[in-house]
Amino acid sequence: MSIGPNDWREALSAIEGAEQIVLACHQGPDGDALGSMLALALALRKRGRETVASWGSDPFVLPRHYAFLPGLDLLSPPSDVPATPELMVTFDCGSIERLGTLEASGRGAKQLVVIDHHVSNDSFGTINLIDPDVAASAVVTYKLIGEMGIPLDRDIAVCLYTGILTDTGSFKYRNTTPEIHHIAADLLSYGIAHDDIARLVYDTHPVGFLKLLALGLERAEVVPGASMIWTWMTQADLERTGVEMEDTEALIDVIRTADVAEVACVLKELRDGTYKVSMRSKGGVDVGAICSSFGGGGHAFAAGFTADREDPRATVEAIVAKLR
Ligand code: AMP
Ligand code: MN
Ligand code: MN
Repeated sequence: MSIGPNDWREALSAIEGAEQIVLACHQGPDGDALGSMLALALALRKRGRETVASWGSDPFVLPRHYAFLPGLDLLSPPSDVPATPELMVTFDCGSIERLGTLEASGRGAKQLVVIDHHVSNDSFGTINLIDPDVAASAVVTYKLIGEMGIPLDRDIAVCLYTGILTDTGSFKYRNTTPEIHHIAADLLSYGIAHDDIARLVYDTHPVGFLKLLALGLERAEVVPGASMIWTWMTQADLERTGVEMEDTEALIDVIRTADVAEVACVLKELRDGTYKVSMRSKGGVDVGAICSSFGGGGHAFAAGFTADREDPRATVEAIVAKLR
């Protein structure tokens, strides 16, 4: 799967021809989803185009870590998205279900341009700009803006850089290539404060998070013979520490540093009592395949799914059965 000249041409003409352009990223957006969507929204604003940009989460809340991103005034609640958009562009969604409450609008769209980099993407668009060889949807978005001939500026560069930074784990993951460093260098040339971006994304937490981290680390268990470390947290933990779910992303980044484990897994209780499962791999295990088998998805080294079992230990046992 790669993006050919025809795909770019078709995407450009769909965007050119639409009266209103609906932009939608995946629910529970991360830096790549939000950064890519806001970058294109800002670029289209420079051209005086009408956009509606949103994502299908309920409640619709901007993750605090990304509150510094430019172009937030271009966001609308999902209720502003028409049921049958003339054109919808999706960002960082490996499948149409990732649109969450906007899935029906995605299915109702007359034209659907899919901007993505998940290897598992089933090309659910009418036009697919999907490149599994790039680290971030922000790379595809960067190229699209280039193809449209819209000059970058500092705000667009901040959005794209944030997507690249977060999906490469600060240029640490295996998906970091010479090309992505070249793109990052180009983005830096617009005068972005990359130090501030890194601090705001990674190194800024409410004090309560440190308490929550302590709880999660205390509970961590290594599964003998499976090279996996796992932990969990509940809604009660969040209440006790005064932390929002969106502030818990860094827990797995500490858990996965355990030297004895190839795979790390964190289960977080959602409001409805089910668990959101996050998995990370150091390279030898394809956690994307494991999470896909549980109805989720992701990449070989970072993936997730929502567990239907209410007991985290039972979910872990089911995962371990696939690892052994
Ligand atoms: P997370 O553990 O939430 O940071 O997610 C890691 C990666 O896994 C994301 O970038 C997504 O690509 C993917 N992912 C997480 N949860 C899901 C899900 N429920 N369905 C599909 N893909 C997911
Ligand atoms: Mn994402
Ligand atoms: Mn991504």
